[in-house]
Amino acid sequence: MTTRTHAEWLAAAERVVPVTEHHIRGAAEPGGGATFSVRSPRDGKPLAAVADGGVKEVDLAVEAARYAFDRGPWPRLAPIERGRALLRIADVIERYREELALLISLEMGKPVVEADAIELRAVINTFRWYGELAGKLADEVPHTAPDSLALVTREPVGVVAAIVPWNFPLTMAAWKLAPALAAGCTVVLKPSERSPLSALRMAELLVEADLPPGVLNVVAGDGPTVGRALGRHHEVDALAFTGSTAVGRHFLRYGADSNLKRVWLELGGKSPNLVFPDAPDLEAAAATAAWGIFFNQGAMCTAPSRLLVHQAIAGEFTDAVVRHARALRVGDPLDPATQMGPLVTLEHLAMVRAHIASGLADGARLRTGGEPLHHELGGWFLEPSVFDQVGPDMRVARDEIFGPVLSVLTFGTEEEAVELANASEYGLAAAVWTANLSTAHRVSRALRAGTVWVNCYEEGDLTVPFGGVKQSGNGRDKSVHALDKYTELKTTWVQL
Ligand code: NAD
Repeated sequence: MTTRTHAEWLAAAERVVPVTEHHIRGAAEPGGGATFSVRSPRDGKPLAAVADGGVKEVDLAVEAARYAFDRGPWPRLAPIERGRALLRIADVIERYREELALLISLEMGKPVVEADAIELRAVINTFRWYGELAGKLADEVPHTAPDSLALVTREPVGVVAAIVPWNFPLTMAAWKLAPALAAGCTVVLKPSERSPLSALRMAELLVEADLPPGVLNVVAGDGPTVGRALGRHHEVDALAFTGSTAVGRHFLRYGADSNLKRVWLELGGKSPNLVFPDAPDLEAAAATAAWGIFFNQGAMCTAPSRLLVHQAIAGEFTDAVVRHARALRVGDPLDPATQMGPLVTLEHLAMVRAHIASGLADGARLRTGGEPLHHELGGWFLEPSVFDQVGPDMRVARDEIFGPVLSVLTFGTEEEAVELANASEYGLAAAVWTANLSTAHRVSRALRAGTVWVNCYEEGDLTVPFGGVKQSGNGRDKSVHALDKYTELKTTWVQL
């Protein structure tokens, strides 16, 4: 974990020379000359002019990945050898950990200490975990009739296109890359146009990990051009997408309109956080509710953005959450004392403010926040915001805001709590706080969500799968189950 001071981070930021070219077939690819500007949310100033990919660069990258899959050594290596390569990837990223954390903080605004301690740690652990797993998977030999032998083998699916969002630029990439590479696939990664710098630098650094050329390619550019071209490409065998539900729909269409490639979607959420009066530690529950919604500036797919509190404790509990919100240190993400940074873009800030305006217009009560925070840096800062008296039909209770805005609703009975919690098009995550084991089990079973936390939030490690139900997506990242996305089961039947 980093121990750098604010002054040291500022000095390091001065020295950054961003990588601005695509990474194709193991080398920099400048593209056709068009660029797009990446600005830092901390001060609104341009960080880099990045190569703006088009269909040509997508074709080049897919061709490189196709060749590496069809003709190259990667899918033919013994899994333990691929595993070793993943461990080398983890080592290289570890060596450049602080530089990558800095790039993430500069490009999307999260506090640099969180980029280092949470995001980079997750990225390194992900490559290590799949690196160690790669050589340990066994195929199946089912029991068949005595005059036959059947083998069920996991074959890599082929060329994978990974399209990822800006809120965890490298973690989301690692959650796709590590299992896909471990399985023997080759990959084209498309980072978000808001946060391409960390991914481009990572790809450049990974030349040190000695992957065969074409195994990992990165194309920068916007979604409707690069994302769409990857989605519709006939030589891509699987799409691994993380992003909004609206864009996820496009990817299903891309798959349907092209070669019926596998389409895996990790999408949005509006996760309910249910607090019963018998929660073991109400103060801890309030602190966690506030931390959960304001962590990463609220840009968490799993953010507990709907706080459902039993009416007997709602007043006191909401007061405690509001106190935590007011105490948060919002400021320069390069300052190690900062707990919440700026929002990613001016447009995103405007979108979050429009949601706050809708909450006010619908009659919710703004308990704290709601206004842009005028910081000397001039970036896109917003006060941590809490609404109570929220009705279930209000937009602030239904829409994913993806910003530091909490909506508090109340319930009277367990049935009402579950009904409110499930009244959402999303089903990514949920939490229940209670000391009663039966309530905890009954409620967590009744909640329609990919993950349910009991008396905690955002806990987990690589051993557990992560993903959504309903319109929060399909398939699972992390754990052995992520390999299902990147492998096909093949049956070989031998008649003896
Ligand atoms: P987004 O959907 O706008 O963009 C995600 C990616 O898709 C980007 O790389 C973007 O360039 C690309 N894209 C955009 N429009 C496209 C199009 N028409 N065709 C092809 N590609 C296109 O999402 P975002 O704003 O980057 O990220 C926020 C969203 O991601 C939130 O909804 C959040 O909940 C979700 N998210 C989900 C998870 C999860 O694991 N379930 C994790 C993180 C973020």
